[in-house]
Amino acid sequence: ELFRERAADVADVKTGLLADLLGKQVVDLSSLPENSIVVVEELTPSMTADIDKENVAGIVTETGGRTSHSAIIARALEIPAVLSVADATKNIKSGEMVIVDGTLGKVINNPEDDVLEAYRAKAKSYAEEKAALEAYRGKETVTGDGEKVLLVANIGNPDDANVAAEHDAEGVGLFRSEFLFMDAKELPTEDEQFAAYQKVALRMKDEPVIIRTLDVGGDKEIPYLNLKKEENPFMGFRAVRYCPNNPEQYKVQLTALLRASAFGDVKIMLPLVTTLDEVRQAKALVEECKKDLDERGVAYNKDIEVGTMIETPAASLIADDLAEECDFFSIGTNDLIGYTMCADRGNDRVSYLYTVYQPAVLRSLKRIIESGREKGIMVGMCGEAAADPLLIPVLLSFGLNEFSVSAPSILRTRKIISEWTKEEADALTEKVMKLKTATEVKVMLQAAQK
Ligand code: PEP
Ligand code: MG
Repeated sequence: ELFRERAADVADVKTGLLADLLGKQVVDLSSLPENSIVVVEELTPSMTADIDKENVAGIVTETGGRTSHSAIIARALEIPAVLSVADATKNIKSGEMVIVDGTLGKVINNPEDDVLEAYRAKAKSYAEEKAALEAYRGKETVTGDGEKVLLVANIGNPDDANVAAEHDAEGVGLFRSEFLFMDAKELPTEDEQFAAYQKVALRMKDEPVIIRTLDVGGDKEIPYLNLKKEENPFMGFRAVRYCPNNPEQYKVQLTALLRASAFGDVKIMLPLVTTLDEVRQAKALVEECKKDLDERGVAYNKDIEVGTMIETPAASLIADDLAEECDFFSIGTNDLIGYTMCADRGNDRVSYLYTVYQPAVLRSLKRIIESGREKGIMVGMCGEAAADPLLIPVLLSFGLNEFSVSAPSILRTRKIISEWTKEEADALTEKVMKLKTATEVKVMLQAAQK
């Protein structure tokens, strides 16, 4: 323990020396002056998780996209962020006044007085619009014709459950458990994991809490797992591929999840599934963990639900078979779009392909939702597209029954859901599904916005 702490000190000294030699300044992102705008080449998920959220007014990066994990964390913290701004670190100087317009994806440094005034007015009307959404607090989430859907939040750590509850979420649709692992220096023990999951379960009372098992890999690196470097980590040995191959380690997490299920409506979700075997293998491990807990005399929910993320084209194509053996689906559009379009979610050069409005993606979503609903299981969506105001009528028409969004998007999503009847959503969707290009789809959805 002692030497591990000293190692961090040595690493700090190394960073300090290197910065001195290179003539660069070291900035501690966890403690910044008020109203800071952070301008960096790249923001990793762990840097974002450390950020001084009270004092950061905006984030600008040179890399990444709307659904990179840094963007997702920034959204959850309600920090305006614009990613993929070429040469931002060269063109913006320390101490300059900067406007970060997260809505339009615009960054303006050294604004003229009239631009600054216009933006002050814009910020004010944004705040007023947000205040008006308060009318939806405490209300049920129902469509215009009274159909109930579940509106839940995505979280990254146990404390986020408070934020979710403050924003009036009806539960948690995705707890990205990998952040627990990323924040630790070594594998969290069963008790440490149990404490984290139990905290969320208790905070959400009897509302559903879907916890995803470790989604390691891709842009989520966990150094102490010492995974081999791969040429293409997004298609490599990750997520549900890694876990069952390390059954003893995986069972620690599954056992902690089962123990937490005695304290709330905890459900287990598997990431990046591509085959039925993966589901069967994971479910067999859950059964082994149940037996161990029986022997230990520890309580858990014997009927705990096990569902999967649908975020690969393979899972979409076999959604009917998966629905037979899964208790629920949650569609991960962040990855599904990327793998369907062969366009990395963080690569700005292919971002014109990376959109949910692509006919290929829409057909995939339709297929997944219908396959799940035909088998009578809940089909949710926890990718960022679930909060896309333009897409909501289409998702309602397909039959999505759970929307899992960043906590600050809850009230706005509830408002938009309430604006659409099934009949209206169906009529629009029928027309949209006949279109041949993403641009046409977006234009039609924009025109239909209420
Ligand atoms: C997704 O892929 O849509 C998803 C919700 O998971 P993540 O963003 O963590 O990959
Ligand atoms: Mg994913």
